[in-house]
Amino acid sequence: MVLAELGGSISRALQQMSNATIIDEKVLNECLNEITRALLQSDVQFKLVRDMQTNIKKIVNLDDLAAGHNKRKIIQQAIFNELCKMLDPGKPSFTPKKGKPSVVMFVGLQGSGKTTTCTKYAYYHQKKGWKPALVCADTFRAGAFDQLKQNATKAKIPFYGSYMESDPVKIGVEGVERFKKENCDLIIVDTSGRHKQEAALFEEMRQVSEATKPDLVIFVMDSSIGQAAFDQAQAFKQSVSVGAVIVTKMDGHAKGGGALSAVAATKSPVIFIGTGEHMDEFEVFDVKPFVSRLLGMGDWSGFMDKIHEVVPMDQQPELLQKLSEGNFTLRIMYEQFQNILKMGPISQVFSMLPGFSAELMPKGREKESQAKIKRYMTMMDSMTNEELDSSNPKLMNESRMMRIARGAGRHVREVMEMMEEYKRLAKIWSKMKGLKIPKKGEMSALSRNMNA
Ligand code: GDP
Repeated sequence: MVLAELGGSISRALQQMSNATIIDEKVLNECLNEITRALLQSDVQFKLVRDMQTNIKKIVNLDDLAAGHNKRKIIQQAIFNELCKMLDPGKPSFTPKKGKPSVVMFVGLQGSGKTTTCTKYAYYHQKKGWKPALVCADTFRAGAFDQLKQNATKAKIPFYGSYMESDPVKIGVEGVERFKKENCDLIIVDTSGRHKQEAALFEEMRQVSEATKPDLVIFVMDSSIGQAAFDQAQAFKQSVSVGAVIVTKMDGHAKGGGALSAVAATKSPVIFIGTGEHMDEFEVFDVKPFVSRLLGMGDWSGFMDKIHEVVPMDQQPELLQKLSEGNFTLRIMYEQFQNILKMGPISQVFSMLPGFSAELMPKGREKESQAKIKRYMTMMDSMTNEELDSSNPKLMNESRMMRIARGAGRHVREVMEMMEEYKRLAKIWSKMKGLKIPKKGEMSALSRNMNA
Protein backbone atom coordinates (compact mmCIF):
# COMPACT_ATOMS: atom_id res chain seq x y z
CA MET A 1 0.00 0.00 0.00
CA VAL A 2 1.52 3.32 -0.97
CA LEU A 3 1.75 6.08 1.56
CA ALA A 4 -1.03 8.19 0.11
CA GLU A 5 -3.32 5.15 0.28
CA LEU A 6 -2.33 4.48 3.87
CA GLY A 7 -3.24 8.07 4.75
CA GLY A 8 -6.52 7.69 2.85
CA SER A 9 -7.42 4.42 4.65
CA ILE A 10 -6.69 5.87 8.08
CA SER A 11 -8.68 9.03 7.35
CA ARG A 12 -11.59 6.92 6.11
CA ALA A 13 -11.55 4.77 9.24
CA LEU A 14 -11.63 7.90 11.39
CA GLN A 15 -14.36 9.41 9.24
CA GLN A 16 -16.51 6.28 9.54
CA MET A 17 -16.10 6.44 13.29
CA SER A 18 -17.09 10.11 13.25
CA ASN A 19 -20.25 9.25 11.33
CA ALA A 20 -21.41 6.77 13.99
CA THR A 21 -24.12 8.14 16.26
CA ILE A 22 -22.71 6.56 19.37
CA ILE A 23 -19.10 5.65 19.88
CA ASP A 24 -18.96 2.43 21.84
CA GLU A 25 -16.52 -0.47 22.16
CA LYS A 26 -17.70 -1.97 18.88
CA VAL A 27 -17.23 1.23 16.87
CA LEU A 28 -13.81 1.82 18.42
CA ASN A 29 -12.72 -1.76 17.66
CA GLU A 30 -13.88 -1.50 14.06
CA CYS A 31 -11.97 1.73 13.61
CA LEU A 32 -8.80 0.29 15.18
CA ASN A 33 -9.05 -2.90 13.13
CA GLU A 34 -9.34 -0.86 9.97
CA ILE A 35 -6.27 1.18 10.90
CA THR A 36 -4.37 -1.98 11.85
CA ARG A 37 -5.13 -3.52 8.47
CA ALA A 38 -3.96 -0.39 6.67
CA LEU A 39 -0.70 -0.26 8.64
CA LEU A 40 0.03 -3.95 8.06
CA GLN A 41 -0.60 -3.58 4.35
CA SER A 42 1.90 -0.72 4.40
CA ASP A 43 4.55 -3.02 5.81
CA VAL A 44 4.67 -1.73 9.35
CA GLN A 45 5.96 -4.54 11.51
CA PHE A 46 3.22 -6.66 13.09
CA LYS A 47 4.45 -6.22 16.65
CA LEU A 48 4.49 -2.44 16.34
CA VAL A 49 0.94 -2.41 15.08
CA ARG A 50 -0.25 -4.72 17.83
CA ASP A 51 1.44 -2.59 20.50
CA MET A 52 -0.12 0.51 19.08
CA GLN A 53 -3.59 -1.02 19.20
CA THR A 54 -3.10 -2.12 22.80
CA ASN A 55 -1.84 1.33 23.82
CA ILE A 56 -4.77 3.12 22.25
CA LYS A 57 -7.21 0.83 24.00
CA LYS A 58 -5.46 1.53 27.29
CA ILE A 59 -5.65 5.28 26.79
CA VAL A 60 -9.19 5.38 25.49
CA ASN A 61 -11.33 3.87 28.17
CA LEU A 62 -14.82 4.56 26.94
CA ASP A 63 -16.43 3.77 30.30
CA ASP A 64 -14.25 6.24 32.11
CA LEU A 65 -14.96 9.08 29.77
CA ALA A 66 -17.49 11.32 31.39
CA ALA A 67 -20.48 12.32 29.32
CA GLY A 68 -19.78 15.46 27.38
CA HIS A 69 -16.24 14.47 26.60
CA ASN A 70 -15.56 14.50 22.90
CA LYS A 71 -14.72 10.83 22.46
CA ARG A 72 -13.91 11.15 18.77
CA LYS A 73 -11.35 13.84 19.44
CA ILE A 74 -9.81 11.77 22.22
CA ILE A 75 -9.56 8.71 19.98
CA GLN A 76 -8.18 10.68 17.06
CA GLN A 77 -5.65 12.35 19.34
CA ALA A 78 -4.61 8.95 20.76
CA ILE A 79 -4.05 7.57 17.25
CA PHE A 80 -2.11 10.71 16.31
CA ASN A 81 0.08 10.40 19.43
CA GLU A 82 0.73 6.69 18.92
CA LEU A 83 1.77 7.17 15.31
CA CYS A 84 4.06 10.03 16.37
CA LYS A 85 5.51 7.82 19.10
CA MET A 86 6.27 5.11 16.55
CA LEU A 87 8.24 7.59 14.50
CA ASP A 88 9.92 9.40 17.34
CA PRO A 89 12.64 7.42 19.12
CA GLY A 90 12.72 10.05 21.86
CA LYS A 91 16.19 11.37 21.23
CA PRO A 92 17.31 13.70 18.45
CA SER A 93 20.13 12.67 16.17
CA PHE A 94 23.53 14.34 16.14
CA THR A 95 23.41 17.60 14.15
CA PRO A 96 26.60 18.82 12.51
CA LYS A 97 27.72 22.31 13.53
CA LYS A 98 28.96 24.87 11.05
CA GLY A 99 32.69 25.63 11.34
CA LYS A 100 33.45 22.48 13.36
CA PRO A 101 34.53 19.40 11.41
CA SER A 102 32.02 16.54 11.60
CA VAL A 103 32.29 13.15 9.94
CA VAL A 104 29.08 11.52 8.75
CA MET A 105 29.23 7.96 7.44
CA PHE A 106 26.53 6.49 5.19
CA VAL A 107 25.65 2.79 5.27
CA GLY A 108 23.04 0.71 3.46
CA LEU A 109 22.51 -2.05 0.94
CA GLN A 110 23.53 -1.65 -2.69
CA GLY A 111 20.80 0.03 -4.67
CA SER A 112 19.21 1.63 -1.61
CA GLY A 113 20.16 5.06 -2.96
CA LYS A 114 23.11 5.59 -0.65
CA THR A 115 25.47 7.34 -3.09
CA THR A 116 22.69 9.57 -4.44
CA THR A 117 21.64 10.41 -0.88
CA CYS A 118 25.22 11.31 0.17
CA THR A 119 25.25 13.99 -2.52
CA LYS A 120 21.76 15.19 -1.69
CA TYR A 121 22.76 15.50 1.97
CA ALA A 122 25.94 17.39 1.03
CA TYR A 123 24.08 19.66 -1.37
CA TYR A 124 21.34 20.41 1.19
CA HIS A 125 23.93 21.51 3.76
CA GLN A 126 26.00 23.40 1.23
CA LYS A 127 22.96 25.52 0.39
CA LYS A 128 22.61 26.27 4.09
CA GLY A 129 26.19 27.49 4.43
CA TRP A 130 28.16 24.38 5.41
CA LYS A 131 31.38 23.39 3.65
CA PRO A 132 30.72 19.73 2.80
CA ALA A 133 33.05 17.22 1.14
CA LEU A 134 32.47 13.69 -0.15
CA VAL A 135 34.73 10.66 0.35
CA CYS A 136 34.11 7.52 -1.69
CA ALA A 137 35.10 4.57 0.51
CA ASP A 138 33.14 2.19 -1.71
CA THR A 139 35.78 0.11 -3.41
CA PHE A 140 33.48 -2.86 -3.90
CA ARG A 141 31.18 -1.64 -6.63
CA ALA A 142 32.81 -0.86 -9.96
CA GLY A 143 31.77 2.60 -10.98
CA ALA A 144 30.94 3.81 -7.46
CA PHE A 145 33.72 6.40 -7.50
CA ASP A 146 32.73 7.65 -10.95
CA GLN A 147 29.14 8.07 -9.80
CA LEU A 148 30.13 10.03 -6.70
CA LYS A 149 32.59 12.11 -8.71
CA GLN A 150 29.94 12.97 -11.27
CA ASN A 151 27.37 13.95 -8.64
CA ALA A 152 29.91 15.92 -6.63
CA THR A 153 31.16 17.80 -9.68
CA LYS A 154 27.60 18.72 -10.65
CA ALA A 155 26.97 20.13 -7.17
CA LYS A 156 30.45 21.72 -6.96
CA ILE A 157 31.34 19.74 -3.84
CA PRO A 158 34.96 18.60 -3.27
CA PHE A 159 35.42 14.84 -3.37
CA TYR A 160 38.06 12.22 -2.68
CA GLY A 161 38.47 8.64 -3.94
CA SER A 162 40.71 6.38 -5.97
CA TYR A 163 40.48 4.08 -8.96
CA MET A 164 43.52 2.06 -7.84
CA GLU A 165 43.26 1.69 -4.08
CA SER A 166 41.19 -1.29 -2.97
CA ASP A 167 41.30 -0.71 0.79
CA PRO A 168 38.21 1.28 1.84
CA VAL A 169 39.69 2.00 5.27
CA LYS A 170 42.75 3.65 3.77
CA ILE A 171 40.66 5.82 1.45
CA GLY A 172 38.29 6.74 4.27
CA VAL A 173 41.10 7.87 6.58
CA GLU A 174 42.97 9.75 3.86
CA GLY A 175 39.83 11.54 2.69
CA VAL A 176 38.78 12.58 6.17
CA GLU A 177 42.27 13.86 7.04
CA ARG A 178 42.54 15.79 3.84
CA PHE A 179 39.20 17.55 4.19
CA LYS A 180 39.84 18.34 7.85
CA LYS A 181 42.99 20.12 6.73
CA GLU A 182 40.96 21.98 4.12
CA ASN A 183 38.61 23.18 6.85
CA CYS A 184 35.55 21.36 5.55
CA ASP A 185 32.97 21.16 8.32
CA LEU A 186 30.88 18.27 6.98
CA ILE A 187 32.88 15.28 5.73
CA ILE A 188 30.61 12.64 4.26
CA VAL A 189 31.92 9.09 3.85
CA ASP A 190 30.10 6.83 1.40
CA THR A 191 30.71 3.15 2.15
CA SER A 192 30.23 -0.04 0.15
CA GLY A 193 26.90 -1.76 -0.12
CA ARG A 194 26.18 -5.35 -1.04
CA HIS A 195 23.23 -6.95 -2.74
CA LYS A 196 22.26 -8.56 0.51
CA GLN A 197 23.26 -8.43 4.14
CA GLU A 198 26.45 -10.43 4.53
CA ALA A 199 29.28 -10.77 7.01
CA ALA A 200 31.92 -9.22 4.73
CA LEU A 201 29.91 -6.03 4.37
CA PHE A 202 29.38 -5.62 8.08
CA GLU A 203 33.04 -6.29 8.85
CA GLU A 204 34.14 -3.68 6.31
CA MET A 205 31.65 -1.17 7.72
CA ARG A 206 32.99 -1.76 11.23
CA GLN A 207 36.56 -1.18 10.09
CA VAL A 208 35.76 2.03 8.20
CA SER A 209 33.79 3.26 11.18
CA GLU A 210 36.60 2.50 13.63
CA ALA A 211 39.15 4.26 11.44
CA THR A 212 37.17 7.37 10.47
CA LYS A 213 35.40 7.79 13.83
CA PRO A 214 32.16 9.25 12.47
CA ASP A 215 30.10 11.64 14.60
CA LEU A 216 27.01 10.21 12.95
CA VAL A 217 26.23 7.01 11.04
CA ILE A 218 23.24 7.32 8.72
CA PHE A 219 21.43 4.18 7.60
CA VAL A 220 19.93 4.61 4.12
CA MET A 221 16.89 2.48 3.41
CA ASP A 222 14.85 2.00 0.26
CA SER A 223 11.21 2.56 1.22
CA SER A 224 9.97 -0.18 -1.07
CA ILE A 225 11.65 -3.11 0.72
CA GLY A 226 8.51 -3.98 2.61
CA GLN A 227 8.41 -6.12 5.71
CA ALA A 228 12.18 -6.73 5.45
CA ALA A 229 12.76 -3.19 6.76
CA PHE A 230 12.79 -4.05 10.44
CA ASP A 231 15.31 -6.90 10.20
CA GLN A 232 17.54 -5.07 7.76
CA ALA A 233 17.69 -1.94 9.89
CA GLN A 234 18.36 -4.01 12.99
CA ALA A 235 21.22 -5.90 11.32
CA PHE A 236 22.94 -2.63 10.43
CA LYS A 237 22.36 -1.22 13.89
CA GLN A 238 24.01 -4.27 15.46
CA SER A 239 27.19 -3.74 13.43
CA VAL A 240 27.68 0.03 13.57
CA SER A 241 26.12 2.62 15.81
CA VAL A 242 23.44 3.93 13.49
CA GLY A 243 22.26 7.33 14.73
CA ALA A 244 19.80 8.37 12.03
CA VAL A 245 17.81 6.97 9.12
CA ILE A 246 17.13 8.35 5.66
CA VAL A 247 14.34 6.70 3.72
CA THR A 248 14.68 6.92 -0.04
CA LYS A 249 12.29 6.55 -2.96
CA MET A 250 9.29 7.87 -1.09
CA ASP A 251 8.04 9.07 -4.45
CA GLY A 252 6.22 6.75 -6.83
CA HIS A 253 5.09 3.50 -5.31
CA ALA A 254 6.80 3.86 -1.98
CA LYS A 255 5.56 1.91 1.00
CA GLY A 256 5.72 4.22 3.93
CA GLY A 257 5.43 1.67 6.67
CA GLY A 258 9.04 0.58 6.40
CA ALA A 259 10.09 3.95 7.80
CA LEU A 260 8.16 3.28 10.99
CA SER A 261 9.76 -0.13 11.31
CA ALA A 262 13.28 1.22 10.70
CA VAL A 263 12.84 3.77 13.48
CA ALA A 264 11.75 1.05 15.86
CA ALA A 265 14.65 -1.22 14.88
CA THR A 266 17.40 1.39 15.12
CA LYS A 267 15.84 3.59 17.82
CA SER A 268 17.01 6.45 15.60
CA PRO A 269 14.97 9.15 13.95
CA VAL A 270 14.27 9.48 10.26
CA ILE A 271 15.93 12.80 9.41
CA PHE A 272 15.32 13.15 5.68
CA ILE A 273 13.37 11.42 2.95
CA GLY A 274 14.33 11.06 -0.69
CA THR A 275 11.52 11.92 -3.06
CA GLY A 276 13.13 11.54 -6.47
CA GLU A 277 16.35 11.04 -8.37
CA HIS A 278 17.29 14.71 -8.54
CA MET A 279 19.63 16.46 -6.16
CA ASP A 280 16.98 18.65 -4.57
CA GLU A 281 14.31 15.97 -4.25
CA PHE A 282 15.17 15.64 -0.61
CA GLU A 283 13.04 16.76 2.32
CA VAL A 284 13.64 17.26 6.01
CA PHE A 285 11.49 14.76 7.87
CA ASP A 286 9.34 16.09 10.69
CA VAL A 287 7.21 13.63 12.61
CA LYS A 288 4.16 15.72 13.48
CA PRO A 289 3.49 17.28 10.09
CA PHE A 290 4.07 13.84 8.52
CA VAL A 291 1.51 12.14 10.76
CA SER A 292 -0.92 15.05 10.35
CA ARG A 293 -0.76 14.56 6.62
CA LEU A 294 -1.15 10.82 7.04
CA LEU A 295 -4.31 11.35 9.05
CA GLY A 296 -5.62 13.87 6.54
CA MET A 297 -5.34 16.65 9.10
CA GLY A 298 -3.07 18.74 6.88
CA ASP A 299 0.23 20.28 7.74
CA TRP A 300 -0.99 23.61 8.99
CA SER A 301 2.35 25.11 9.82
CA GLY A 302 3.79 24.24 6.41
CA PHE A 303 0.65 25.53 4.79
CA MET A 304 0.68 28.83 6.66
CA ASP A 305 4.35 29.31 5.87
CA LYS A 306 3.48 28.80 2.22
CA ILE A 307 0.73 31.41 2.49
CA HIS A 308 3.22 33.86 3.92
CA GLU A 309 5.65 32.98 1.15
CA VAL A 310 3.33 33.05 -1.84
CA VAL A 311 0.24 35.14 -1.17
CA PRO A 312 1.00 38.84 -1.72
CA MET A 313 1.53 40.63 1.62
CA ASP A 314 -1.45 42.95 1.21
CA GLN A 315 -3.83 40.02 0.64
CA GLN A 316 -2.64 37.91 3.56
CA PRO A 317 -4.63 39.50 6.41
CA GLU A 318 -7.83 39.35 4.36
CA LEU A 319 -7.42 35.67 3.50
CA LEU A 320 -6.50 34.71 7.05
CA GLN A 321 -9.45 36.69 8.38
CA LYS A 322 -11.82 34.86 6.03
CA LEU A 323 -10.39 31.53 7.12
CA SER A 324 -10.81 32.33 10.77
CA GLU A 325 -14.45 33.25 10.12
CA GLY A 326 -14.84 29.69 8.89
CA ASN A 327 -17.09 30.65 5.97
CA PHE A 328 -15.59 28.78 3.11
CA THR A 329 -17.19 30.27 0.03
CA LEU A 330 -16.67 29.23 -3.57
CA ARG A 331 -14.75 32.48 -4.03
CA ILE A 332 -12.29 31.44 -1.34
CA MET A 333 -11.92 28.07 -3.03
CA TYR A 334 -11.24 29.91 -6.31
CA GLU A 335 -8.61 32.09 -4.66
CA GLN A 336 -7.01 29.01 -3.09
CA PHE A 337 -6.82 27.34 -6.47
CA GLN A 338 -5.15 30.47 -7.87
CA ASN A 339 -2.61 30.34 -5.06
CA ILE A 340 -2.00 26.64 -5.53
CA LEU A 341 -1.29 27.11 -9.22
CA LYS A 342 1.24 29.80 -8.29
CA MET A 343 2.87 27.84 -5.51
CA GLY A 344 4.56 25.26 -7.68
CA PRO A 345 5.32 21.68 -6.98
CA ILE A 346 1.61 21.21 -6.77
CA SER A 347 1.69 17.86 -5.05
CA GLN A 348 3.78 19.21 -2.17
CA VAL A 349 1.51 22.16 -1.55
CA PHE A 350 -1.58 20.07 -1.96
CA SER A 351 -0.51 17.55 0.60
CA MET A 352 -0.06 20.38 3.10
CA LEU A 353 -3.51 21.78 2.57
CA PRO A 354 -5.97 20.39 5.05
CA GLY A 355 -8.52 18.33 3.18
CA PHE A 356 -6.82 18.41 -0.17
CA SER A 357 -6.29 14.72 0.11
CA ALA A 358 -4.82 12.03 -2.05
CA GLU A 359 -8.08 11.70 -3.98
CA LEU A 360 -7.78 15.19 -5.41
CA MET A 361 -4.02 15.06 -5.64
CA PRO A 362 -2.55 11.67 -6.44
CA LYS A 363 1.22 11.94 -6.48
CA GLY A 364 2.76 11.45 -9.88
CA ARG A 365 -0.42 12.77 -11.50
CA GLU A 366 0.25 16.47 -10.98
CA LYS A 367 -0.65 17.37 -14.57
CA GLU A 368 -4.11 15.85 -14.18
CA SER A 369 -4.64 17.56 -10.82
CA GLN A 370 -3.63 20.85 -12.36
CA ALA A 371 -6.02 20.32 -15.28
CA LYS A 372 -8.82 19.51 -12.84
CA ILE A 373 -8.23 22.70 -10.90
CA LYS A 374 -8.23 24.74 -14.08
CA ARG A 375 -11.49 23.05 -15.14
CA TYR A 376 -13.07 23.93 -11.80
CA MET A 377 -11.88 27.51 -12.15
CA THR A 378 -13.41 27.82 -15.62
CA MET A 379 -16.73 26.65 -14.22
CA MET A 380 -16.48 29.13 -11.35
CA ASP A 381 -15.84 31.88 -13.90
CA SER A 382 -19.42 31.31 -15.04
CA MET A 383 -20.85 31.85 -11.57
CA THR A 384 -22.52 35.02 -10.36
CA ASN A 385 -21.13 37.03 -7.44
CA GLU A 386 -24.02 35.80 -5.33
CA GLU A 387 -23.06 32.19 -6.00
CA LEU A 388 -19.38 32.80 -5.38
CA ASP A 389 -19.92 34.63 -2.09
CA SER A 390 -22.51 32.33 -0.61
CA SER A 391 -21.48 29.67 1.84
CA ASN A 392 -24.82 27.94 1.45
CA PRO A 393 -24.48 25.02 -0.98
CA LYS A 394 -28.29 24.75 -1.19
CA LEU A 395 -28.29 27.94 -3.28
CA MET A 396 -26.77 25.92 -6.07
CA ASN A 397 -29.94 24.34 -7.46
CA GLU A 398 -30.24 22.34 -10.64
CA SER A 399 -31.06 25.25 -12.94
CA ARG A 400 -28.07 27.24 -11.66
CA MET A 401 -25.79 24.27 -12.21
CA MET A 402 -27.11 23.80 -15.75
CA ARG A 403 -26.50 27.48 -16.51
CA ILE A 404 -22.92 27.25 -15.17
CA ALA A 405 -22.22 24.09 -17.18
CA ARG A 406 -23.50 25.74 -20.37
CA GLY A 407 -21.49 28.90 -19.71
CA ALA A 408 -18.28 26.94 -19.18
CA GLY A 409 -18.88 24.47 -21.99
CA ARG A 410 -18.79 21.56 -19.50
CA HIS A 411 -21.19 18.83 -18.50
CA VAL A 412 -23.52 19.44 -15.57
CA ARG A 413 -22.10 16.29 -14.00
CA GLU A 414 -18.77 18.09 -13.70
CA VAL A 415 -20.37 21.05 -11.94
CA MET A 416 -21.96 18.62 -9.50
CA GLU A 417 -18.61 16.93 -8.93
CA MET A 418 -17.02 20.30 -8.19
CA MET A 419 -19.79 21.15 -5.73
CA GLU A 420 -19.17 17.85 -3.93
CA GLU A 421 -15.49 18.76 -3.66
CA TYR A 422 -16.47 22.21 -2.39
CA LYS A 423 -18.76 20.74 0.29
CA ARG A 424 -16.05 18.36 1.44
CA LEU A 425 -13.50 21.14 1.73
CA ALA A 426 -15.96 23.54 3.38
CA LYS A 427 -16.58 20.96 6.10
CA ILE A 428 -12.91 20.57 6.85
CA TRP A 429 -12.15 24.27 6.65
CA SER A 430 -14.94 25.07 9.05
CA LYS A 431 -12.54 23.78 11.71
CA MET A 432 -10.63 27.03 11.28
CA LYS A 433 -13.56 28.97 12.68
CA GLY A 434 -12.72 31.06 15.68
CA LEU A 435 -9.05 30.30 15.58
CA LYS A 436 -6.62 33.03 16.41
CA ILE A 437 -4.57 33.41 13.27
CA PRO A 438 -0.91 33.66 14.18
CA LYS A 439 1.62 35.84 12.46
CA LYS A 440 4.60 34.39 10.62
CA GLY A 441 6.72 32.29 12.95
CA GLU A 442 3.93 31.84 15.48
CA MET A 443 2.72 28.59 14.06
CA SER A 444 2.91 26.15 16.92
CA ALA A 445 -0.27 27.32 18.62
CA LEU A 446 -2.30 26.84 15.48
CA SER A 447 -0.80 23.43 14.77
CA ARG A 448 -1.59 22.34 18.30
CA ASN A 449 -5.14 23.57 17.95
CA MET A 450 -5.68 21.81 14.67
CA ASN A 451 -4.17 18.58 15.84
CA ALA A 452 -6.18 18.57 19.03
P1 GDP B 1 23.54 2.82 -3.90
O1 GDP B 1 23.92 1.54 -4.61
O2 GDP B 1 22.90 2.53 -2.59
O3 GDP B 1 24.67 3.78 -3.78
O4 GDP B 1 22.39 3.48 -4.76
P2 GDP B 1 22.41 4.66 -5.81
O5 GDP B 1 22.65 5.95 -5.16
O6 GDP B 1 23.29 4.29 -6.96
O7 GDP B 1 20.86 4.63 -6.26
C1 GDP B 1 20.26 3.54 -6.90
C2 GDP B 1 19.16 4.06 -7.82
O8 GDP B 1 18.12 4.63 -7.05
C3 GDP B 1 19.63 5.15 -8.76
O9 GDP B 1 19.04 4.95 -10.02
C4 GDP B 1 19.10 6.43 -8.12
O10 GDP B 1 18.88 7.44 -9.07
C5 GDP B 1 17.82 5.95 -7.50
N1 GDP B 1 17.37 6.76 -6.34
C6 GDP B 1 18.06 7.12 -5.24
N2 GDP B 1 17.26 7.83 -4.39
C7 GDP B 1 16.04 7.93 -4.98
C8 GDP B 1 14.79 8.53 -4.61
O11 GDP B 1 14.61 9.13 -3.55
N3 GDP B 1 13.76 8.39 -5.50
C9 GDP B 1 13.91 7.73 -6.69
N4 GDP B 1 12.86 7.64 -7.49
N5 GDP B 1 15.07 7.14 -7.06
C10 GDP B 1 16.12 7.24 -6.23
